Amino acid sequence: MSRESAIAFIQTRTEGLSKLPLAGYVVAVVAVVAAMGVRAALEGVGSFYYLPLLPAIMATALLAGRLETAFAILLSIAANVALVHRDSVVDTVANAVLFAAVAWLISEGFRSLRAYRTRAGELSRRLARRDHMLQTILASVPVVTLDRQGIVRSLTPSASAMLAAPEALAVGEPFDLFVEGFDLATFPTTPQYGPLAHWVARTGDGRTLHLNIQLGLNEDAGDPDHAIISLTDLTDSHAAESHAREMHAQLNRVWRLNSLGEMAATLSHELNQPLSASVTYLHAAQTDMRNAGPAADNASRTVDLAKTQLLRAGEIIRRMRELLAHESRGLDVESTHSMIADIQGVLGMIGRTAGVSIELRIDDADDAVWAERIQFQQAMVNLVRNAVEALDGEANPLVVVTGRAISPEAYEIRVEDNGVGIATADMETIFRPLMSTKTGGMGLGLSVTRTIIDSHGGTLKVEASPMGGAAFSFCLMRERELVEP
Ligand code: ADP
Repeated sequence: MSRESAIAFIQTRTEGLSKLPLAGYVVAVVAVVAAMGVRAALEGVGSFYYLPLLPAIMATALLAGRLETAFAILLSIAANVALVHRDSVVDTVANAVLFAAVAWLISEGFRSLRAYRTRAGELSRRLARRDHMLQTILASVPVVTLDRQGIVRSLTPSASAMLAAPEALAVGEPFDLFVEGFDLATFPTTPQYGPLAHWVARTGDGRTLHLNIQLGLNEDAGDPDHAIISLTDLTDSHAAESHAREMHAQLNRVWRLNSLGEMAATLSHELNQPLSASVTYLHAAQTDMRNAGPAADNASRTVDLAKTQLLRAGEIIRRMRELLAHESRGLDVESTHSMIADIQGVLGMIGRTAGVSIELRIDDADDAVWAERIQFQQAMVNLVRNAVEALDGEANPLVVVTGRAISPEAYEIRVEDNGVGIATADMETIFRPLMSTKTGGMGLGLSVTRTIIDSHGGTLKVEASPMGGAAFSFCLMRERELVEP
């Protein structure tokens, strides 16, 4: 039995005894009776008085409490006074007092030794538990130990799984076999928090990982020859980030085309009337010239040229509008939740830059709709960007995007905020092209968005939101036959 288990054994027994009220006294009686027996057995060898009783006191001190030990001492004295005849009363009392004092001291010493050992046992059990916990945590954290030359000395199971490198193969290999260009000498010795350092790793099975590596030299632990590095796999967040960037660039291209188309439509609408009026006026001038006789023929031919140029200008604008008009590829059946999840990164970027929280509450049940994916996403980005811009200076800026089926035919999207809101008088004018209240605003966002929603068979509406700001909403046509793959 090891020392720890012996201590644990005694402690368990003692704890067991302390739960029985009279058990300690029984121990005292049994120990004293046994000691008296031993002493009687030793009578042939010599005469002993109190000495054989000391082990009985120690046993009681070991197994029971203070009261029981005092009881054992008194019992020993009573037994000796009753059973052993002494000539002098003084001698009897002196021996009894001496025995009581020595037995008490020994039992106290024994008791503190026992307490010390119990504590030591408890501490070592706690340490063992902590060690076990640390080992368990370490096993689940990707950690690699390197020597000063950057050679792998050990790696945790999760590091081995992350790098697809069994420990037996990885140990002894240079770490830059996995992370190209990794050099311990140039690595900062303090852990890097904040913007995460990026490393590209190649795993044992040929995959590419994006890693953050943090380094801790083991100097404090008295092991300056080894460095411990912990790895964080950023591959997923890296992929999400590049997807968001790609999405952003694609939406920017679509935005440029859409806004140019909207501008062309506005220009064509605005110029159409003055151009036609000019042609009509020139036509009237030609009628007058014809009445003036052949002298005006030259002038009439020049007016003809002017009319041709005006008609050409009209034609150019019309062609430009056709070219830039939102080129509808037709609507497809799409999942609203998936279309919005796709631009979550872009919306996150817009919100983060302005310090605004954007909550997406898109019900993914019955969310199949007829939509042109990129155009719908463009409309959503426009509405969310506007909402975010309307929150400038608000204390708890919040944009909520809700999506839910509201009837067998319609899936409603709402974008609302707790910003400045829109005066009822302005609720129609804000949709006009080139109408903006922002310095540097182009005033095309809402008109482009309205055109997109129109092409989806919906209507873009605005009203005051219960959140305090504006609420823009529209409906998409539901496709209820779609079977999810
Ligand atoms: P721009 O954003 O370039 O001004 P828009 O057509 O997108 O052009 O918006 C037109 C105007 O509508 C904005 O200038 C703003 O005054 C108003 N607006 C749009 N969305 C909101 C909103 N969520 N809250 C308050 N005002 C808004």
